[in-house]
Amino acid sequence: MTGPAPAAASDYTTVPDVHGRFGPYGGRYVPETLMYPLQQLEEEYFRAQSDPLFQQELTYYLREFCGRPTPLYLAERLTKELGGARVYLKREDLLHTGAHKINNALGQALLAKRMGKTRVIAETGAGQHGVATATVAAMFGFQCVIYMGAVDCERQALNVYRMKMLGAEVVPVHAGQKTLKEAVNEAMRDWVTNVRHTHYILGTAYGAHPYPVMVRNFHRVIGDEARRQILEREERLPDLLIACVGGGSNAIGLFYPFLNDSAVKMLGVEAGGEGILPERHAARFQGGSLGVLQGTRSYVLQDEFGQIQSTHSVSAGLDYAAVGPEHAWLKDLGRVEYGYATDDQALAAFLRLARIEGIIPALESAHAVAAAIERAPTMSQDSIIIVNLSGRGDKDVAQVVAKTGIQLPK
Ligand SMILES: *Cc1c(COP(=O)(O)O)cnc(C)c1O
Repeated sequence: MTGPAPAAASDYTTVPDVHGRFGPYGGRYVPETLMYPLQQLEEEYFRAQSDPLFQQELTYYLREFCGRPTPLYLAERLTKELGGARVYLKREDLLHTGAHKINNALGQALLAKRMGKTRVIAETGAGQHGVATATVAAMFGFQCVIYMGAVDCERQALNVYRMKMLGAEVVPVHAGQKTLKEAVNEAMRDWVTNVRHTHYILGTAYGAHPYPVMVRNFHRVIGDEARRQILEREERLPDLLIACVGGGSNAIGLFYPFLNDSAVKMLGVEAGGEGILPERHAARFQGGSLGVLQGTRSYVLQDEFGQIQSTHSVSAGLDYAAVGPEHAWLKDLGRVEYGYATDDQALAAFLRLARIEGIIPALESAHAVAAAIERAPTMSQDSIIIVNLSGRGDKDVAQVVAKTGIQLPK
C-alpha cells in the first residue's frame, strides 16, 4: 500500500478537496479556455446539489421516468451452484435505456436546464451514454450532438440508430484510433466553442473537476438504495461489493455510500482483455502509471514516453486508457481492491447468467459477474455479495454470437 496514512480512510466525506483532488489524483488539467466554463459549472452544480427543489425534481424523474428504485435481486440458482456467499444483483439493467448511465445523464440535463442552456453534447464509446443523453435531451427539448469514434459507430450501429431516432445528431470522429478517446477530444473542442448555450454531459466519473465528484454524486443513488435494501432484507450489511470499472461511475456509485463501513469489502473489476500484455487489455491498475489524460490526473496506460497506449476489451464500455481519479485514490488507500476479468471469463459469465438466472447482462457487467463466480465459492454460506449489474446485454448479443459461434437452428 502506498499513499498517505490510512487515518484518512475512516472518513471519506472530505474528498475531493476544494480543488477536486482525491489525494494526488484528480484536479483540473485543461486549456485556459475551459477554466471558466468549468468554474461556472462547479458553482452551479454545488448550488443545485444543496437546493431541495433541484433534489426533488431529480428524485421525481429518477422514479417516474427512469424507473427507480431498481430491485436488489437474490440470484438463487447462481448462489446455489456456486455453493458459497449469497449473491445479490443490483438491477441497474432494468433502468430506462438499459444501463446506469441515465442516472447521470438525467442529473446533468436538469443542471443544464437550470443553467439556461439549450444544447447538450456528449461523447460516447459503445453508445450507451449517447443514448442516455439523447433520451434526456428529447425529454427536456434540448438540441443534442453526440461525438462517437468512427470505428465505434460501425461496431455499435444499433445505438447510432437509436440516438438518431431520439432526434440527436451523431458526429463520427475519424481522428487517431477512431474510438472513445478521440470522441472526448471533439466534445471538448465543441464545448469551448459553444459554451454560452451548450452543456457537456460527460459520461463517467472522469475528467476535470467537478465532473468526477458530480458524476459520482448522481450515481450514489445506486449504493444508497442497495444499502437500504440489503438492511431491509438481511438486516445486516454485505460482506463484499463487486462492480466493473471503466471510467468508474457505476462502481463508485455503488461503493461510495459504503466507504465508511469498514467491514464491507469492495472489488473493482477492470477489463483484462486477452491477458495482461501491452495493448491487449484495459486494466489500468495492472501496468498503468501516474499520468494526465483529458483533464485529470490518474492511473493511465502509457508507454515510456507518455504516449497513451492502445487498449483492448471485448466490452467497449471498459475499453479506455485511464481510470477515474477517485478509484486511483481508493486503491492507494487500500480501501478498494482492484482485479480484472479477461474477455473469455466475461463471455462465460455472460452466458452463465443468461442460462441460470434468465438475465442477459451487458458485457461490461459480465466482468463483475465473472469476479463473483470466482469469489462466492471461497466465502461462507452466510456471507453476502452484492454485484452491480450495470446494464443489460441486448447491445452485445450480435458480438457474443460472433465470438461464441452460437448458431440459428436449421
Ligand atoms: C458505460 C458502461 C460501463 C462502464 O462505465 P463506468 O463509468 O465504469 O460505469 C459499465 N457498464 C455498462 C452497462 C455501461 O454502459
